[in-house]
Amino acid sequence: MSDSIYTHSGKLGMAPIVWPVIFIPCAVVLSAAYAYLDVYIPLGGYVSFILLAGYVFGLGIVSAFAVKVAKCRSTTAAGFLGFLGGLFALYASWLIFLYALINKFDEEGIGLVPLLIHPGAMWQTILLINKEGWFSIRGSTPTGAVLGTFWVIEAVAILGGMIFLSGMRIRHEIFCETCSRWLPVFEKRMYKPPTETHAGNFNEVEPAALLRLEEMQESNFPAVRCEFLVCNTCGAKGLRYKYVELVTDKEGKTSEKSTNYKHLLKAPA
Ligand SMILES: [Zn+2]
Repeated sequence: MSDSIYTHSGKLGMAPIVWPVIFIPCAVVLSAAYAYLDVYIPLGGYVSFILLAGYVFGLGIVSAFAVKVAKCRSTTAAGFLGFLGGLFALYASWLIFLYALINKFDEEGIGLVPLLIHPGAMWQTILLINKEGWFSIRGSTPTGAVLGTFWVIEAVAILGGMIFLSGMRIRHEIFCETCSRWLPVFEKRMYKPPTETHAGNFNEVEPAALLRLEEMQESNFPAVRCEFLVCNTCGAKGLRYKYVELVTDKEGKTSEKSTNYKHLLKAPA
C-alpha cells in the first residue's frame, strides 16, 4: 500500500447509542449547576460570561469524549450530535433555571414535572421574566430587547460551541478500520524545515522527503512536528505532522502557530 492521505470513513460507530447514554446525564448535571449558579449568584457582567463559558466547555468536553469513545468517524455527525446536544442543554438549563427562580421567589413554588409537561406555561413564564427582568446590574434591571439579546447570545454560544467542540477529539485522529480502534501515538519527532519552506508552501513537501530532513533534539522554530501512530493489534501505521512557527502579535507577545496538518494512513519507511 502506498502512502495515502487519511480521511475518516464517515461511519458512526456506536454513536447513536453510546453518545446519548454518556452525554444526557452529564448535560443534566451541568445544566442544573449552571442554572442554580445563575439564579443564586446573579452578579451579571463578567461572572455571567465566565459561567456561560464554563458551561459550554463542560458540555463540549463531555460530547467530544462521547464521540471518541463511541468510535464515531465523522466530524459532520459529531457536529450534528453537538447541535442536538446543544438544543437539549438549552432546554434543560431553561427548565431548571425557571424551576430554581420560581422556587426562590414564590412561596407556593412549583414542581419540576409540571413545568416539564407544560411547555406553554414555560414559555409564558419566560415572556413574563423578559417583561419584568429578574436581576440588576449597576442599578438597572435589564428587560425586553436588552435581556432578550443576552439570551440570544447565550443560545448561540451553547449551540455554536457544541457544534464546534463535539468533533475536537476526533478531528486529528486516525482510525484503524480493520481492528476498529483509534491509533495511539508511539513516537514524536521534530524536524528542521528546509529554509525555503514556510507555512504557505508546506503542503507541497512530500512526506517521504520530510523524513529525510534533519532531526532536531530541542524545541526550535520553525519546526515540523511529526507524530507516528501504530495500531497495537494489526501494526497499521499512521503519521500526522504540522508546521509550527512562532508568531508575534501587535502587543509583542509571541505564541506558537501551527498550520497544515496532514494525516497519512501509512508512514513512509
Ligand atoms: Zn489495526
